[in-house]
Amino acid sequence: MDVRLRMLERLKELGFDFNQFSMDDFVAHVAEQLEREIRLIGWEMPQGMYGAWISIDDVAHEYVFYNTIYSRHQQVNSQLHELCHMICGHPTLKISRTRLGELLDRGDLDTVFEKALLRSPETCQEEVEAETMAILVQESAANCNRLKQLMVPSTNEHSLRYLEKVGFARV
Ligand SMILES: [Zn+2]
Repeated sequence: MDVRLRMLERLKELGFDFNQFSMDDFVAHVAEQLEREIRLIGWEMPQGMYGAWISIDDVAHEYVFYNTIYSRHQQVNSQLHELCHMICGHPTLKISRTRLGELLDRGDLDTVFEKALLRSPETCQEEVEAETMAILVQESAANCNRLKQLMVPSTNEHSLRYLEKVGFARV
């Protein structure tokens, strides 16, 4: 089956009402469906890196970092792209909450991002799937007159506080 059709079906299964689209609501819906807490964190990542998804293996938390050096619309794109990897059930880097804390403490995030982006040998196919689904989400939102909402990235302030608590100050 064509990738676009396959992704459209997967998106339908998610059962999200695009008439109510906002990034916050979409993220909340995905989190509920996957039974994971999803934390979105704006970060100054290296140039050319848009986002990275890190899964925590000792608690049901997913961390999506998105690069704040880019425009707000690009930040939404990056968030959707990583969320779509999650919806597709693609693998990503799994670490414990303590390990993430340690890495954040050392300011060693770039290495983690690179590892997260390597994912698996299926990387190319997975990138096509995630990107296709991210486009479908945007089209569905646009069809429901929710274009304005596609300019507002979702963010979790409490996650930033958590990161600060484990000793990593934001630049
Ligand atoms: Zn990707």
